[in-house]
Amino acid sequence: MQLNPRYPQLNAKLYREQMPTPLKGAKAGHFNEALADELQWSAEEKQNWVEICSGQHTITPFQPLAMAYAGHQFGHWAGALGDGRGLLIAQVLNKKQQTVDLHLKGAGQTPFSRMGDGRAVLRSVIREYLAGHALNALGIPSSNAVGFTSSLQGVQREKLEPGAMLLRSADSHIRLGHFEWINQYAPELLSDFTQHCISWHYPECLKAESPILAFAKAVIEKTAILVANWQLVGFAHGVMNTDNLNITGSTLDFGPYGFLERFRPSWINNHSDHQGRYTYEKQPSIAHWNLWVWLNQLVYLAPKETRDTFKAELSDTLSQFEITFLEKYQTGLACKMGLPTFHKESFDCSLNFLRILQQEKLDYTQSFIALQEKRYTDLRDDCINTDVFDEFLEHYHQIRENQDIEALQQSMQEHNPHYILRNHMAQDAIEAAERDDFSEVDRLFKLLANPFTKQPTLEKPSDLVPPATDVPEISISCSS
Ligand code: AMP
Ligand code: MG
Repeated sequence: MQLNPRYPQLNAKLYREQMPTPLKGAKAGHFNEALADELQWSAEEKQNWVEICSGQHTITPFQPLAMAYAGHQFGHWAGALGDGRGLLIAQVLNKKQQTVDLHLKGAGQTPFSRMGDGRAVLRSVIREYLAGHALNALGIPSSNAVGFTSSLQGVQREKLEPGAMLLRSADSHIRLGHFEWINQYAPELLSDFTQHCISWHYPECLKAESPILAFAKAVIEKTAILVANWQLVGFAHGVMNTDNLNITGSTLDFGPYGFLERFRPSWINNHSDHQGRYTYEKQPSIAHWNLWVWLNQLVYLAPKETRDTFKAELSDTLSQFEITFLEKYQTGLACKMGLPTFHKESFDCSLNFLRILQQEKLDYTQSFIALQEKRYTDLRDDCINTDVFDEFLEHYHQIRENQDIEALQQSMQEHNPHYILRNHMAQDAIEAAERDDFSEVDRLFKLLANPFTKQPTLEKPSDLVPPATDVPEISISCSS
């Protein structure tokens, strides 16, 4: 690995050095060799992946560290949080010479553990491993993971579960909540920290007249695009607290997330989210709210005399969120539908299709595939209200008349995955892994690596169907 240790350049108040505490009896879970290659791991490092992904072998001379951050959780100020169970164990250069963080999750207690045990269980590690991989393969910015290990050591949650560690890779682990921590506990560091964020993650903003405003705009834009991408693929993050949003607009911290199966925008995938704050349909407005909290932190970068004007300028940057989100979402939806992006009726027609999916409780992913494969009769047969479907289909054909159908079909193929990570798929892989059988993790890993390509030899019929409407949902615990 080629180290590029840059986080330790920051003021030492912002982190604590901490060595991992390995679990007893660490054993191989799964290794993403292609990612290790991308991150320039040597043959010897790849051979030692189990030791590296279980905290037994650190990457000298990098001193593992836990970051300080704070956050708003479920809409309320939660105070100081920080890495309570994960450590930044290295920053390395990938083949493109970009710096990538390696963060070992479940590595034991840190000064930020509060009441927690510093651990992660196999169940949640597998869910994060597969989801990060799936989103990357879908072309959605996200953390990923080089590998994970299981162990013989039990970790207590609702019941005793196998402890595990995940070696996460991400372009950054700087959360919106980092800024909240600084303003609360070390306000003198705000300016220097922001400068570092800009030069590491948004260097193009340094050329702007006001680099801070340019930075704010860029973070807003990236976040709006990220959320539009989540909506398009039916991904619900589940815990969009300000401490779980990355300043780079890359998905971070998978908890009780879910991919929508039957199209139910108000579906609560996180069973601890009693108010339904983080449902799929609320993600755009929650992202907007989180960014508003974050912009309020940047206000203090201006001297007192000009703070009011600066505040107004920052506030103005947020109006771009909705514009960027809608543009990305509308275009993406038209591509999924096989409708021309420029046609003024494409969006209405797309929304009518979504309404049918919602009313008829149809599978989001497979319904788009059926549309793409022109299996209109199959779709119609799944509807109770066939009149509404017929009306939609007529309008759909009208819009597609005299268009370049080949190009539209091509765009559908590029935007409609055959495979998403359904909860029951992850659950089957977890149950097998808890019996020390990682073959299902491996199968899903391979299947989800190419979500846009039909893979008959790898796929199982259950990969393509949502649970029956009368079967109780798998309850995804918030404990992890
Ligand atoms: P999360 O819900 O995973 O995003 O975590 C929120 C906060 O709780 C972060 O500061 C975590 O580091 C901390 N945390 C979660 N689980 C544990 C644990 N088992 N031990 C220590 N800290 C934890
Ligand atoms: Mg978190």
